[in-house]
Amino acid sequence: MDFNNEHLSRFRELINNASSIVLIPHKNSDGDAIGSILGWWNLFHKLGKKATVVVPDEVPGNLGWMHGASDILVHEHNRKNVLTALSEADLLMFLDFNNVKRTGDLADDLAEVTVPRVMIDHHPDPEEGIADVLFSEVSVSSTCELSFHLINALEWNQHISLEAAECFYAGIITDTGVLSYNSSNPRTYLTVADLVGKGVDKSLIHKELFQSNSLGRMRLLGHVLCNKLELMEENGAAFISLSLDDLEKHNYQPGDTEGFVNYPLGIKGIGVSAMFTEKEKDKFVKVSFRSRDEVPVNSYSEQFFSGGGHVNAAGGEWHGTLEEAIQRFRDTLPEFVHKIKSK
Ligand code: 5GP
Ligand code: MN
Repeated sequence: MDFNNEHLSRFRELINNASSIVLIPHKNSDGDAIGSILGWWNLFHKLGKKATVVVPDEVPGNLGWMHGASDILVHEHNRKNVLTALSEADLLMFLDFNNVKRTGDLADDLAEVTVPRVMIDHHPDPEEGIADVLFSEVSVSSTCELSFHLINALEWNQHISLEAAECFYAGIITDTGVLSYNSSNPRTYLTVADLVGKGVDKSLIHKELFQSNSLGRMRLLGHVLCNKLELMEENGAAFISLSLDDLEKHNYQPGDTEGFVNYPLGIKGIGVSAMFTEKEKDKFVKVSFRSRDEVPVNSYSEQFFSGGGHVNAAGGEWHGTLEEAIQRFRDTLPEFVHKIKSK
């Protein structure tokens, strides 16, 4: 993959001159976010560089096996140590997000840090001025794949250890729906081939990622599919709503609802899916969208739920009650879909 040579040499220089690099993903981090930061973290260790990973909130349990995960500093639990790491940093790297707001409350503490920033991401429309060096490639399946191409361009492929390869592999696999979405292409498969060539145990990683559910998560999924899924058949849409009460009853742990939003797309005729998750009683609802084909849920989310993301996978938020968020979806989605379809 070709990169702007000037950006590449500035990036190399920033890394070479840095003695303490802080790596940061987005809030509610997923496999691609944690895979990319820990992939780089492992690479820096191999290069003899000090690197620290700071995440806004807790890492989902099915990603805890990645090498380096136990050294991660969680801002919402350990702000003091995060502030120390930030004060010692001479380079910040933002991975898998392109707007500082995506780091939640950590954004305020990042605003106080004046060292150079590098952003590596595959979401459209990066925030203006977010970083000094930007690697923003929407055509790449995942931040993990993009990171791999960057590392190759820096001629550091031989420094990708088995541990780093496992992290990058996991991020590609989770962000592409196990290589099923159209976001993956021959280049993605070549990337995976290289990583698997470094000894990645695919079967073990799939077990860690997809077959390490708690009974609570499985029961919650059953509850969701049975009782919390509603169809808007005439619009080819479906949605799931989850109140704090539902979550508490099923001993909710961070990451437990990851992927639930994809299930409605398994119903014939459903091309748009939404999930509304109450995070703060009557005050804050996290929203997730998935779609197939032509419905751009990122622009829908941007217009109606202050969000964004990819064409077929996006997220947003609602400051109000769960019922209001659902009503907004019912009120606005039909017209949005109608407009797209009649184009
Ligand atoms: P998820 O539904 O898995 O949380 O997120 C799906 C996609 O939408 C991800 O690529 C994520 O980065 C993006 N996304 C999720 N929530 C938000 C949000 O609140 N704002 C924006 N701009 N993007 C989001
Ligand atoms: Mn991603």
